[in-house]
Amino acid sequence: MQNTTVALPTLTPRETDPDSLARDIVEHLTHRIGKNPSAAKPHDWLAATIAAIRDSVIDRWIASTTKTYEQGGKRVYYLSLEFLIGRLMRDTMSNLGIMENVRTALEKLGVDLDLVSELEPDAALGNGGLGRLAACFMESMATVDVPAYGYGIRYVNGMFRQEVHDGWQVELPETWLAHGNPWEFERREASYEIGFGGLVEPARADGSGDDARSWRPQERVIATPYDTPVVGWRGERVNTLRLWTAVPIDPILLDAFNAGDHIGALKESNKAESLARVLYPADSTPAGQELRLRQEYFFSSASLQDIVRRHLQYFGDIRTLPDKAAIQLNDTHPAVSVAELMRLLIDELDLSFAEAWDVTRRTFSYTNHTLLPEALETWPLPLFERLLPRHMQLIYAINARLLIEAKRDKGFDDRAIGAISLIDEGGERRVRMANLAFAGSHSVNGVAALHTELMKETVFADLHRMFPDRINNKTNGVTPRRWLMQCNPELTSLLRETIGDRFLDDTEALADLVPFADDAAFREKFRAVKQVKKGRLADVLKDRMGLRVDPSALFDVQIKRIHEYKRQLLNIVEAVALYDQIRSHPERDWQPRVKLFGGKAAPSYHNAKLIIKLINDVARTVNHDPAVQGLLKIAFVPNYNVSMAEIMMPAADLSEQISTAGMEASGTGNMKFALNGALTIGTLDGANIEIMEHVGRENIRIFGLTAQEVADTRNNGYNPRAVIEGSRELAQALNAISSGVFSPEDPTRYRDLIGGIYDHDWFMVAADFDSYHAAQRELDTLWANKAEWDAQAVRNTARVGWFSSDRTIRQYAREIWKVLP
Ligand SMILES: *Cc1c(COP(=O)(O)O)cnc(C)c1O
Repeated sequence: MQNTTVALPTLTPRETDPDSLARDIVEHLTHRIGKNPSAAKPHDWLAATIAAIRDSVIDRWIASTTKTYEQGGKRVYYLSLEFLIGRLMRDTMSNLGIMENVRTALEKLGVDLDLVSELEPDAALGNGGLGRLAACFMESMATVDVPAYGYGIRYVNGMFRQEVHDGWQVELPETWLAHGNPWEFERREASYEIGFGGLVEPARADGSGDDARSWRPQERVIATPYDTPVVGWRGERVNTLRLWTAVPIDPILLDAFNAGDHIGALKESNKAESLARVLYPADSTPAGQELRLRQEYFFSSASLQDIVRRHLQYFGDIRTLPDKAAIQLNDTHPAVSVAELMRLLIDELDLSFAEAWDVTRRTFSYTNHTLLPEALETWPLPLFERLLPRHMQLIYAINARLLIEAKRDKGFDDRAIGAISLIDEGGERRVRMANLAFAGSHSVNGVAALHTELMKETVFADLHRMFPDRINNKTNGVTPRRWLMQCNPELTSLLRETIGDRFLDDTEALADLVPFADDAAFREKFRAVKQVKKGRLADVLKDRMGLRVDPSALFDVQIKRIHEYKRQLLNIVEAVALYDQIRSHPERDWQPRVKLFGGKAAPSYHNAKLIIKLINDVARTVNHDPAVQGLLKIAFVPNYNVSMAEIMMPAADLSEQISTAGMEASGTGNMKFALNGALTIGTLDGANIEIMEHVGRENIRIFGLTAQEVADTRNNGYNPRAVIEGSRELAQALNAISSGVFSPEDPTRYRDLIGGIYDHDWFMVAADFDSYHAAQRELDTLWANKAEWDAQAVRNTARVGWFSSDRTIRQYAREIWKVLP
């Protein structure tokens, strides 16, 4: 395109001193936004400031892309239906090291950085842990210099906004794009056509001997990407988050329009746009809706076409794809990518089936996030076949090879064949996405050591027998930039003053702090920081909910999606028991506690929504009872999201990680709390086990059944009723709740919820209650001993550096992707 004999003007990189930044901000305000500084509104200042910051990102972005291109290096493609990135402005300023300069620049213009940055909406393109992991990984890939693209969907409506009306969750649409999104760049030139439905014909006229077919889709839409730069620590590398939106091929059907059918004329347009409209708000149960499968295929196909195009453009030969591209499937949501790559290789690029299968398996790897049987994605065969007829054929062909190999080479019996098959033949026939992802990948990883072992023993037992080298573990991590440096600058300063700056680049250097746990002067400072963060949270609770809490009380926090396996119910039942005991024995030495809950429930998850109501009902009663004033306060904090997490994590004294053992794959909230110096009360589940191994058994409160004991209890005629009868505190608390003490206006509201504990107690609330209750009372005693509590809190911060997502990404890069030395 460009005439290379022409001398281009050379651009100098943007200056980031305060004066240059102030000039850039005014320049953007005036010439891009079209506002006079004296007339600019706060959102205009936000947009202009982001644009100025973005300019200095772009120089580095282009440099990163050029470097990868020149080195002919391998790229990582992280495919995820969710990226829960939150706000980007602070992240970017902090990683570029320009936060203070931007602050000064804005001061010169009479604008307060903190007020402006609060206006940035959260990009809530995810539900919870899985989406937040993808966001932490994007930042860490840029930090450890892995050339990477994240691929996902640019949902117009991300996660719903939660309000609490009369104690019940109410869901409202979140309009994060209402003021535009100054971080993104539309890239129309990189658009692709995506087909659905239709029929498959032989590719050659004679139809013989060739693996290729010709798919004639009935419907087509265009996928157009928006790119957002992701800046790594110290700005060394900038990677790309590429999110797809859907646009109709014919925005308006002119025939219909001219015939007077003005609504019908927009049908195609509405149908296309619905693809990128909503994020499904169910955390760990598949929606099972046709639109969801369409979304999965839409973003998988667009991403794969983009990857293949880039590879051919740079390297020419598609057979070298596995040497230049590593594609990571974040859970099974993008698993149809396996069939899509096969289709592109066979039908469009003329590879044989065998060649295509070899390329595919060497390119993909898959991360499993859950073992809950109800959470494993399957699609009814007739739906899959109608929407993706060519992919269905390819899945049959892959399956035939897999099953023949299992029988011939491994001697698998009918049961084992049934278990590994890509098609579930029990009842209504369904396509098993986890088996497809497993079969189509060279690596399948779990997200914590226990979870990985359970994968081998349960869902993938037979596939593991067939491919014993495929399953591996990559324990999750969190980025210390967002979850320590930005959300807790006060603690970061104290740490730098105490152990120097090494931990800023190597989180495991936090271990240098260990001796300071025994230094009374240091502990005082550590406590003072915690006090500041608790004061800040107390202010937020007062402003947003009119709630007054005492910042010197023990802040006991459970924030995460509401789910029965996460056991918010165990926590609130224990709170009722505590309430009862304080009233019965006011003379005892009770320690003041503030119990905080936060989290969204899937709109269709009845029990989860009822648990939110129960927390609010108990809170209402407890908070108005003068008998426990100053000793116990309970609150549900609405609309838990990344920005709220950034305020709550640093303010917590106690982190509640109390899932039924064997059910939480890893957890990452547990890591954020510990990094910020909270003690954990938790079960031996997910990454809690590895956190215990790092911080030491004596610096964490472990209670309850192990995963093995949970399985044994369920298998050996568990009788929760007998357990409840044997525990006076538990029986009283359950009785109070189910008899309507907290819901006098509707006394039977919780009868069925509590009845479930009596009847089957699948989540082991009764089984673990006494041990949980005892651990809580031990924590009261520990809280009374400030020196010891603080020493343990310091040891938590000091010893969880290993849970940095930089460590996790280096392990993926070396062991799965083969992109780092
Ligand atoms: C970290 C995080 C999660 C995951 O929390 P878990 O306790 O691991 O379930 C969910 N939502 C948000 C906003 C987070 O920041």
